[in-house]
Amino acid sequence: MKAKNNPVGDTENNLEAVVALAKRRGFIFQGSEIYGGLAGTWDWGPLGVALKNNIKQSWWKRFVESREDIFPVDTAILMNQKVWQASGHVGGFADPLVECNKCHKSFRADHVPQVDGVATDVCPECGKGKLEARQPFNMMFKTQVGVGGGNDSAASERDASVSYLRPETAQGMFVNFKNIIDSLHPRLPFGMAQIGKAFRNEIAPRDFLFRVREFEQMEIEYFIRESDWEKTFEMWRVEMKNWLAELGLGGGDASGGKSGENAGGKVHELEVAAEDRAHYSKRTIDFEFDFPFGRKELCGLAYRTDFDLRNHSTASGVDLSYFDEQTGERFIPHVIEPTVGVDRLALALLCSALTEDTMGDGGATGAASDNAEKRLFLKLPPEIAPVRIAVFPLLKNKPELVAKAREVYDMLRKVPGLSGRVAFDDNGNIGKRYRRQDEIGTPECVTIDFQTLEDQTVTVRDRDTGGQKRVAIGELDIK
Ligand code: ATP
Repeated sequence: MKAKNNPVGDTENNLEAVVALAKRRGFIFQGSEIYGGLAGTWDWGPLGVALKNNIKQSWWKRFVESREDIFPVDTAILMNQKVWQASGHVGGFADPLVECNKCHKSFRADHVPQVDGVATDVCPECGKGKLEARQPFNMMFKTQVGVGGGNDSAASERDASVSYLRPETAQGMFVNFKNIIDSLHPRLPFGMAQIGKAFRNEIAPRDFLFRVREFEQMEIEYFIRESDWEKTFEMWRVEMKNWLAELGLGGGDASGGKSGENAGGKVHELEVAAEDRAHYSKRTIDFEFDFPFGRKELCGLAYRTDFDLRNHSTASGVDLSYFDEQTGERFIPHVIEPTVGVDRLALALLCSALTEDTMGDGGATGAASDNAEKRLFLKLPPEIAPVRIAVFPLLKNKPELVAKAREVYDMLRKVPGLSGRVAFDDNGNIGKRYRRQDEIGTPECVTIDFQTLEDQTVTVRDRDTGGQKRVAIGELDIK
């Protein structure tokens, strides 16, 4: 078998191939497709749901369940508009805009192509017009809660019903800081975590799942004393780096390496310059990934200081300070925020996993042979693959093989964590069934044949090497 090293990884074809595979195999579809779509929205099919759930579970297990200092929450998407005023989003969550004076297309000023390091003022769309600055564009989706003011209500009443679809999950955690303190009495340092939808009216959604208008975030707000911010920032930098490495997006050694260091991995750390940081941040590292369309932010780590808790305390009149019983001090905690977009991470994993090689027809050795043919497959980590293992009866028309295969299938579905991740396929020849599973990233396939009926052993075939081994059913060790 000849496997090319990331064969379609650095060309635009990679993205096209990922989009095509995602649609063909029921991972991801264009949002509102039968009506021509809606830019920046995608719908997730069965395998996509499984992929996303596995990503979220991996994060949840590692950063919530396996730690004692993280408290999970699930807060409302709609919040009182005062939240977004206090957080600075109403005034400041805006992208600089430029507009072509001929075709009137708008662009984000910081995304306009550069010539010799300077942003061009020629329209990249029509090539004729000149780009001129426009009023910054607030990216929050505004909406109205309740029936609103009615015909003769005062303007203030109408304003009271304005709300926004949250552009980040973070604020739901800041406004619940006091609830967590009062109900669970945690001691610093501790964090709050949540996974949920976020919405941004992006000027130019693009690159499949990379820049969309509706997406999911996995965020932690980790509350600390100000004096601890540097060491805590470093702790989370290493945590994030190691988790990404575990997902196969390596970028450093097990100890995490130094900031900015990259041991030949696919993730690179970028120290974000002060002028490029969000309004609340005193230090930010972007973890960038080599997407087929360039090196771009995958996820981030920010030191948000006490900006949010302090502003909410002032604006709401509710004391959001923390009282340290041991030292007798009262202060507003500072915050370190690791944040990851589920959709962007799913895209990075798909792009990274897409592999092309040549392989035989899945016969006894799986090795390259005269009849070797090209295969496109997803080399996803087992933890993330939508289907963890597939079970095949060698022949569909032999009831005893089908019954035995069903038995093994039912047994595997009872293994903790595997219930929805076992597939059964009796359709077509074995080689074709292997290809179908390879294409969706299934790490292993188990075949039940006549020998199984005699000695209770099965063939286990490995996705990446095509290699096969004989294993006793009782010794199948699938995690
Ligand atoms: P960008 O500079 O690419 O617009 P950002 O710095 O504004 O991103 P954050 O506010 O730090 O992003 O959001 C945290 C994470 O949420 C990002 O690292 C990314 O994974 C995800 N994310 C943000 N905006 C989008 C989007 N429009 N589509 C998909 N994921 C997004």
